[in-house]
Amino acid sequence: MKIQYHKFLNDPEPFVPISYDLPLPELEINGEHMFKEPVHVEGKLTKETGIARIDLTITAPVSTICARCAKPLSFTHESQFSADVTDDMQTMDIEAVVVDESGEIDIDEIVSICLVLDMDMVYYCKDDCKGLCPKCGKDLNEGPCGCKEDPDPRFSALRALLDKE
Ligand SMILES: [Zn+2]
Ligand SMILES: [Zn+2]
Repeated sequence: MKIQYHKFLNDPEPFVPISYDLPLPELEINGEHMFKEPVHVEGKLTKETGIARIDLTITAPVSTICARCAKPLSFTHESQFSADVTDDMQTMDIEAVVVDESGEIDIDEIVSICLVLDMDMVYYCKDDCKGLCPKCGKDLNEGPCGCKEDPDPRFSALRALLDKE
């Protein structure tokens, strides 16, 4: 969805509602395509004393896998975005949305950038997910696998350190 910035500023109507579904199957988050279903975008473009402002709520159904045990995960992520809009390419306001060369506010792009910035690097099926055994691949959430612990004392010292975290 794109909105003509100058047309909006000159329009007596101070309000443009925004409500649409945006398919983002190609959007990569850490090398992964998480948005198998369209994300929903809800919000408004408003103006006051010649300054436009955009407010968005992005509701995204996420499909990913647990970074430890690779179990499929699905949940709903929500992002909020609010910023002033300007056509001043030299603006010092790093928070502001700058309109593109054709004078349009590219809502799709704002949504994509917002999701890239907001999504976590990794997700876990639960905070204390035990992951998979590095030797046999068994899901250790279902119980121990019977693989022998490495007897090398250097590794146990290292493991003790890691366990402290
Ligand atoms: Zn897991
Ligand atoms: Zn094992």
